[in-house]
Amino acid sequence: MPDGDCVGSQLALAHALRALGKEVTLALDDKIPESLFFLDGVRAIAPHTPRAQDVFVFVDGSDPSRYGKAFDAAAIGARPIILIDHHITNEPFGTYNLVDPGAASAAEIVYAVVRALDVPISPALAQALLTGIVTDTLGFRTAATTPETLESATALVRHGGSIPEIIDQVYNRRSFQTLHVLGYALAHAALVGKIIYSALDFQTLEKFGANGNGTNGIVNQLLTVADADIAFFLVEKKDGRIDLSMRARVGTDVSGAARRLGGGGHKQASGATLSPPFETAVQRVLDAIQQESLP
Ligand code: AMP
Ligand code: MN
Repeated sequence: MPDGDCVGSQLALAHALRALGKEVTLALDDKIPESLFFLDGVRAIAPHTPRAQDVFVFVDGSDPSRYGKAFDAAAIGARPIILIDHHITNEPFGTYNLVDPGAASAAEIVYAVVRALDVPISPALAQALLTGIVTDTLGFRTAATTPETLESATALVRHGGSIPEIIDQVYNRRSFQTLHVLGYALAHAALVGKIIYSALDFQTLEKFGANGNGTNGIVNQLLTVADADIAFFLVEKKDGRIDLSMRARVGTDVSGAARRLGGGGHKQASGATLSPPFETAVQRVLDAIQQESLP
């Protein structure tokens, strides 16, 4: 489930390494959201596992399973792995681990790497990193946003990045079907104590003619309700597994509940992939929150 930070960070790193004369292959074992197709070089990202590399760099995923088939331990063998990540639930599986849970995005860390490498920052590189920063902070609106985040973003705008283009491409170009999915999710939301949630089964998704793309902002909408401290949203996938997205207000931590459910993430934004059946999924999440996230 690659997002703007995941895609932007790896594109930026590729631009930087190529500027240093390195040969770079990019891989992502999942569909890239169409909202990110505006990024330079995005269509060259392959779904397959590269094998002939000297070094493997993994960016913006807390553990090997997050990379799907792009992490192939047997193919990597004894060659070095560099991990660049910012998740609090990170398992430092690299040979070298550059992990900073204080960074609002992986892109912020990659920006520090790019500066340390002293490569020229092209507008394409700047826009890729800025996309990671803008999307992971929801447009500089999350508690993870620090002075360093804003300083990085300022510098990237000076190098040719455009915040209005990112906002327009990522947030203001959804499909008509997606609007109906959002309407359904909001109309069927339930508030239980301080927890607000909604769930979307695959049949309903198909009825709207939607493909599951474009559901990722819905959980943030749920947490706009004043009485809620935690929001979660479930989407049933074609194979019966269920995507869980969780959000928490500052002062509440959903990363433990996500981890308990086999996922991970950040205190304020976490997720997991649940096994079927869909019918029991809400209760499983409520139980995990009860055990991990509520005082
Ligand atoms: P999302 O709700 O999809 O925006 O994800 C929020 C955060 O949770 C991101 O930082 C993800 O890396 C993390 N996350 C989402 N799904 C999973 C999963 N299945 N396993 C581990 N972490 C996840
Ligand atoms: Mn990220």
